[in-house]
Amino acid sequence: MPVNTDGLLPCLHSLTTRQLLAIKRDGVTSLISTAGDCDSCEQGQAPRLQERLSSINQALNQRGLDPLNHGPLQAAKWHRLYLALNRDRGSEAAPTGRRQWLLGGWSAAVGRASPHPAADDEWASPGTLIPRGREGQILPWGPVIDPLACTGCDACIHVCPEQAIRLEEQPAAYRILPEACSGCRLCSDVCAAGAVQVARWAAATTERLALRQGRCAACGTSFHVPDNGSRVSSLCPVCNQGNNYRGLFQVLPD
Ligand code: SF4
Ligand code: SF4
Repeated sequence: MPVNTDGLLPCLHSLTTRQLLAIKRDGVTSLISTAGDCDSCEQGQAPRLQERLSSINQALNQRGLDPLNHGPLQAAKWHRLYLALNRDRGSEAAPTGRRQWLLGGWSAAVGRASPHPAADDEWASPGTLIPRGREGQILPWGPVIDPLACTGCDACIHVCPEQAIRLEEQPAAYRILPEACSGCRLCSDVCAAGAVQVARWAAATTERLALRQGRCAACGTSFHVPDNGSRVSSLCPVCNQGNNYRGLFQVLPD
């Protein structure tokens, strides 16, 4: 969690979905926070913590799991809470500095559960931190390929750093693993056909996209395209797009 050297979060709303899911998985059930006037903050237009928690809790609820609660607390009440917790711990002298009680209040609020995600979690896709659940339940991210627009070029497979879209062989198919998706959107950026979109907090609609094999009548290369019911073209996607085969010629012996 991005706690700075003063023990404070730079912004409550900077907590990411990945971090919230990691602390939930580690046993935290409730967050208590106190904040200034976010509406008047110049960063106040950023997505709010409450929006993230709402989506996370919708997903947890679908899986029959307890929500990650969040309760705002006035600074004065938090101070009193911290002093009470500190007394219960047998501390001789409760620190009264703002920095100290905020730091103490934070650690008291999360109890023994570590607020620091394990090193692996920093790079884990959010979907791997939430139970997969039944079919149709929402996940933080999910690539969706339109089989009618996809040309089968494999660019998204090669660019995806999480292998959330993979090529299966025999039978040939694109396999989509939404829980592995980190939401980087490299796949949609690279797709010249505009065939892949990255859905947010949605159930993946396609997890396996069957492919049909073809051999290009112009350049002879083998290729595959989504099995969407249409007739497979006699040309590969490259020759189909550029008509480059028209520039090819064959030199015959005398
Ligand atoms: S979704 Fe786009 S990038 Fe991926 S294989 Fe299809 S056309 Fe290529
Ligand atoms: S958004 Fe990123 S991680 Fe997700 S499928 Fe696309 S390239 Fe892979």
